[in-house]
Amino acid sequence: MGKLKGTLCEILEEDHKKHRKELDAITTNPKFECKRCEEKATKKKWLCKPKKIK
Ligand SMILES: [Zn+2]
Repeated sequence: MGKLKGTLCEILEEDHKKHRKELDAITTNPKFECKRCEEKATKKKWLCKPKKIK
């Protein structure tokens, strides 16, 4: 498994095809969403403007 750099928001803009497995792990059962780009992730560190999903 390769290492991901930056936030999910950035990864999706750049090279999401390279990181599909990692992105699957990050986005399955998300707890946070990004207020700026509306991506969802399990941890807020992956998002540029994280907001907890209720
Ligand atoms: Zn974002």
